[in-house]
Amino acid sequence: MAANERTRVAIVGGGPAGMFLGLLVARAGVAVTVLEKHADFLRDFRGDTVHSSTLTLLDELGLGPAFAAIPQRRITSVSAQLDSGPAIIGDLTRLGGTHPHIALVPQWDLLELLARAAEREPGFQLVRNAEVTGLLREAATNDDGAAADGGRVTGVAWRSREDGSEHTLEADLVVACDGRWSPVRDAAGLTPRTFGAPMDLWWFRLPRRPDDPDGGFGRVSHGQFLIMIDRGDYWQCGYIIRKGADARLRAEGLDAFRARLAAIQPWLADRLGEAPPSFDDVKLLDVRLDRLERWHLPGLLVIGDAAHAMSPVGGVGINLAIQDAVAAARALRPALGRGGPVPESVLQAVQRRRWWPTVAVQGFQQAAHWGVVRRILDDDGGASRVPTRAPLPLRVLSRYPVLQGLPARFVAVGPLPEHAPRWARRKPGPLDSGS
Ligand SMILES: Cc1cc2nc3c(=O)[nH]c(=O)nc-3n(C[C@H](O)[C@H](O)[C@H](O)COP(=O)(O)OP(=O)(O)OC[C@H]3O[C@@H](n4cnc5c(N)ncnc54)[C@H](O)[C@@H]3O)c2cc1C
Repeated sequence: MAANERTRVAIVGGGPAGMFLGLLVARAGVAVTVLEKHADFLRDFRGDTVHSSTLTLLDELGLGPAFAAIPQRRITSVSAQLDSGPAIIGDLTRLGGTHPHIALVPQWDLLELLARAAEREPGFQLVRNAEVTGLLREAATNDDGAAADGGRVTGVAWRSREDGSEHTLEADLVVACDGRWSPVRDAAGLTPRTFGAPMDLWWFRLPRRPDDPDGGFGRVSHGQFLIMIDRGDYWQCGYIIRKGADARLRAEGLDAFRARLAAIQPWLADRLGEAPPSFDDVKLLDVRLDRLERWHLPGLLVIGDAAHAMSPVGGVGINLAIQDAVAAARALRPALGRGGPVPESVLQAVQRRRWWPTVAVQGFQQAAHWGVVRRILDDDGGASRVPTRAPLPLRVLSRYPVLQGLPARFVAVGPLPEHAPRWARRKPGPLDSGS
């Protein structure tokens, strides 16, 4: 299919924010094109969590049965395994409702499901291998009538990663959903305020054996923090390191790393002789937390990680990005229905609605970074190797289980869950049953 040269809404990035927004705008009966720079959604580093409020949203969109047909695991409590025993942080069974859990599904399966649903709507187009390289802007003039920078955004320039050809796509509205390194945000001259983070993450796989325990783990011991996500025949692992420690730790060698893994999770020892095979298989994921002061310009809206990069703490970034997309679709529909450019006041309303939930969730991540993660990284037990104790907030939660519903709600539902607008809702059809 040839890519459009003109559309009503151009969405840059086919991550959770971009694909949900694409589906909803298409269901509003508005022409929309999503440009995604990769050929597929198969990226290891995508988070796997689908939260309670997103599960409800999928039901409302008629996609619940199709989602349920994807092989998945369920998390009903958020806990960390310390030397002193498990520390329960959130008990999701206290949430009530239809989905008192978080589903663990490879994100590429969720994105493919959204792509299939959106492609059934007239006016929707997903262009893969399409890397956006710049913005098209109206010529602007200053008070003297001279040319100036920064006219209304009128579309994007993009390059095919298949054949290197250059294209333009004109649009009445461009929505940047291109993640935390957002090239569109940079091209627009928008700079986020960064909040710093004490950690980075090493991301790698280990083989999974049939007699391994089920489910996900967060294992904490002697200044080390290992997250393990069960992906069937392998474990997707995240090993938290101090920010900036990557080069030093790599210089210590692979055997030293394998020995540390065996020390914190001894039942892994039987496969650490050959895994991870090399440091090339251990990817450094740079953890960032930042936020734009202004999420819009005339003709441009920025949402999801592009507007507010999220840390992996709590696994909440996907949910927040999706909530932004739903709020944006609801606010945009009347203006998109009228034709012509979308007034900036509408874009401003999207930011106003999603601002405080974003500030609240990022505040929670900052508190967890400095109050929990940094303490864990600092607590190597000293020479006496004293077993790692839970930091105070975790001890309080373990001691008073009644409090565990609060972090559960905060993580699994979020501060301002958005619901599908009535016009976007569908009953599940034959194609939505996963068959
Ligand atoms: C290590 C790590 C682990 C995480 N784990 C979790 C987790 O388990 N659960 C959770 O909820 N959150 C997690 N997060 C946060 C989460 O990944 C993000 O908050 C979420 O992905 C944001 O969604 P998004 O759609 O805004 O952006 P993204 O998911 O980043 O999607 C952006 C999309 O834009 C595309 N793109 C980028 N540039 C261009 C371009 N120039 N042209 C076209 N397309 C482009 C990208 O290919 C990508 O598909 C994690 C973050 C990190 C760093």
